[in-house]
Amino acid sequence: MKNILSLFFALFVVLNCNSQGLLSEKNNFTKQDTLRGSITPERKWWDLTYYHLDIEVKPDEKFISGKNTIQYKVLKPHQVMQVDLQEPMVITKVIQDDKELEVAHNGNAHFITLKTDQNIGDINAIEIHYKGNPKEAIRAPWDGGFSWKKDENGKDFIATSCQGLGASVWWPNKDHMYDEVDSMLISVTNPKGLTNVSNGRLRELVENDNNTVTSHWFVNNPINNYGVNVNIADYVNFSEVYEGEKGHLDMDYWVLSDNLEKAKEHFKDAQKMMKAFEHWFGPYPFYEDSFKLVEVPYLGMEHQSSVTYGNQYKKGYLGRDISGSGWGLKFDFIIIHEAGHEWFANNITYKDAADMWIHESFTNYSENLFLDYYYGKKASSDYVIGTRLNIKNKKPIIGEYNVNSEGSSDMYSKGGNMLHTLRQLVEDDEKWRQVLRGLNSTFYHQTVTTKQVEDYISQQTGIDLAAFFNQYLRDIRIPNLEYSIKNGELKYRWTAIVKGFDMPIQIEIDGKSEWLFPKAEWKTIKINSDSIKIDRDFYVKSKEI
Ligand SMILES: [Zn+2]
Repeated sequence: MKNILSLFFALFVVLNCNSQGLLSEKNNFTKQDTLRGSITPERKWWDLTYYHLDIEVKPDEKFISGKNTIQYKVLKPHQVMQVDLQEPMVITKVIQDDKELEVAHNGNAHFITLKTDQNIGDINAIEIHYKGNPKEAIRAPWDGGFSWKKDENGKDFIATSCQGLGASVWWPNKDHMYDEVDSMLISVTNPKGLTNVSNGRLRELVENDNNTVTSHWFVNNPINNYGVNVNIADYVNFSEVYEGEKGHLDMDYWVLSDNLEKAKEHFKDAQKMMKAFEHWFGPYPFYEDSFKLVEVPYLGMEHQSSVTYGNQYKKGYLGRDISGSGWGLKFDFIIIHEAGHEWFANNITYKDAADMWIHESFTNYSENLFLDYYYGKKASSDYVIGTRLNIKNKKPIIGEYNVNSEGSSDMYSKGGNMLHTLRQLVEDDEKWRQVLRGLNSTFYHQTVTTKQVEDYISQQTGIDLAAFFNQYLRDIRIPNLEYSIKNGELKYRWTAIVKGFDMPIQIEIDGKSEWLFPKAEWKTIKINSDSIKIDRDFYVKSKEI
């Protein structure tokens, strides 16, 4: 997500992110931002292998308590470990090898001094016990935290969301994206009569004596922290098996009991999504963990293998077409967009929040590929070009590194249009599809940098795209094709470009489509007509002088 796709919501994000310091101006970041956003020495020496998050949720008190057992491999000897947990949650004790350990607190970062020697290659575990009333999400998923809502029957309808803000808003962990656990067990105790749905597969459901139940959900694949979620409600479940590229895929749907019949009809988009995205991106990356859609009291989020859904069973984005082309009402935006993140966000995950475009640009782009699969190329072009109305070009797509800073909301529609432009440059749809599939197989279950993605695409397409990515990801200017037509001569050049930008572009000239190869310097060719038409699939500007 986060679906910052309308002006209204984008404004809301700006207002809210300020409270988290996410949009601070350059050099205005705090020590807390650095502790949260960088790979500190107290994080670097250990590699996450496994989490067992074990909590009790008390809806009446809006209270959670429990522990997270962190298992890790020692990469380098070090005796101080950083673990993150945000106020007002508190760590009550930390245990390793039956010994209680000292913790020094620095805001939301906690530094634990270990007593046991940490030797290279050792697999050790540490228990972080904690409790508190976690931050309540007022406008999930944009602000994040716990949503303590009620359904129409007055039953609890509870969910977590924490992208950007970080999972440490509700559970203690290594809250930096570069390091993912290999697998995870999520154990949640909640009042009887309600069902918890988390990530992965339900391994066991235990009825306790005190009118509570405990569900144990096991995630068999690497997972990023913000992808972990708890959803507690009066859920009913229905399932189907999808015959996909890797065999049988369980697709499970968890919805409020009143919405069962509606969901059975409306969620048909999920199978359509799976078919289109396996075609374009390769096998769904988490067959072992199944695919789930889980109804929640907010719009939605790409929680891994348990994508959350709150689009009110409407087509489009809450019933609106974000492209203005009409095509946006052919599908449920949240099902398609959030599930698209299973490939770009959950399979391929950014290491640093500054590179969030890797999640959002490709997933925004996936919306038009869904249309392409079912309605053809013109529909896909109409849609992605239509979304240009959401582009602002006020700040670069890439944010600042090492301070948990997201780039601008242009990572959505501008990023999608950048990739659509790239498809034109490749000029071979099958090759382009293999690039998208290759990204997912090459970086399977990995965290990556922008450079890795750029280099991969350049290598696979055989086009040096360094200046292209600099232009669209790191600059706010849109390349401008400046031209004049006089005396049977077309004179043209690029302006508003970064150093080295020389993207070729297709134009219609004398009634047929041709490539132009503009550079910063003027070039000329002979033409017969007195006008040219620039191919609309390229996201550029033009000016006749
Ligand atoms: Zn998204």
